Amino acid sequence: MVKRPVAGKVLPSPGKTVTETRRILRKLGAQHPNADTELNFTTPYELLVATILSAQCTDERVNQVTPALFRRYPDARALARASTDELEPQIQSTGFFRAKSRSLTGMAAAVVEEHGGEVPKTMEELVTLPGVGRKTANVVLGHALGIPGLPVDRHVLRVANRIGIARSEDPEVVEQQLGAAMPPAEWTKTSDTLILHGRRICKPKPLCDRCAVRAECDYYRALGPKIQKTAKPQLPRRAPQSRGDSGSVADERRAPQARRHSREGGAPRKRK
Ligand code: SF4
Repeated sequence: MVKRPVAGKVLPSPGKTVTETRRILRKLGAQHPNADTELNFTTPYELLVATILSAQCTDERVNQVTPALFRRYPDARALARASTDELEPQIQSTGFFRAKSRSLTGMAAAVVEEHGGEVPKTMEELVTLPGVGRKTANVVLGHALGIPGLPVDRHVLRVANRIGIARSEDPEVVEQQLGAAMPPAEWTKTSDTLILHGRRICKPKPLCDRCAVRAECDYYRALGPKIQKTAKPQLPRRAPQSRGDSGSVADERRAPQARRHSREGGAPRKRK
């Protein structure tokens, strides 16, 4: 994937240099050596379907649904023949099943009619498919097509901004900032690593005492003085409070899509 300018947007400089960013990602990579997508797939088509289903749903739940789905609809041509009424009960447990069934049938029809049944291999073509945004396209490019892609989800957004290796609430801007700092061959791994760090350590309430990059994290540096300021001086013998575990600093803002949508189905929660 070639670095693409963001039309009409000014790219703010990230707080870290390229050298610092790469060093931080090396440390996080060592902390999460097996970072990879947790969606099960064997073809680009399957990953595209699984990624569409993973919106507001756990990978684990998607992996429970997709084996039967892929047996019944092994390729885009088979899926394009399905109706949304037929598809909905099969994907209901992933949530938002009506919108997702429309995306899946629309995506499959477009792949068949405009790309001969094969998942296209460029960002520009992928994002024209129904239900496919930039994040989904980057997942498919990076994990199924061997083309550098840097998916930015809410975990990447939160973690990168906290550390200071990116500065923006716009996923596309963060993608560009991280993409400019990291070699294309490491884009997908960068995303996988930040996602896993966000799921395991740098949660909305972060576990900073377990973090490999605490010493270089802007959020942690800012949090320290705040904790010291609120400490009670009359209790000097009290064990020092863990700065990173404090909930006194505002947590992440919710992802825009999470604010916009309400669930259609009764399936439990939604994180990815
Ligand atoms: S030090 Fe804390 S806030 Fe910073 S990246 Fe690590 S877990 Fe996240």
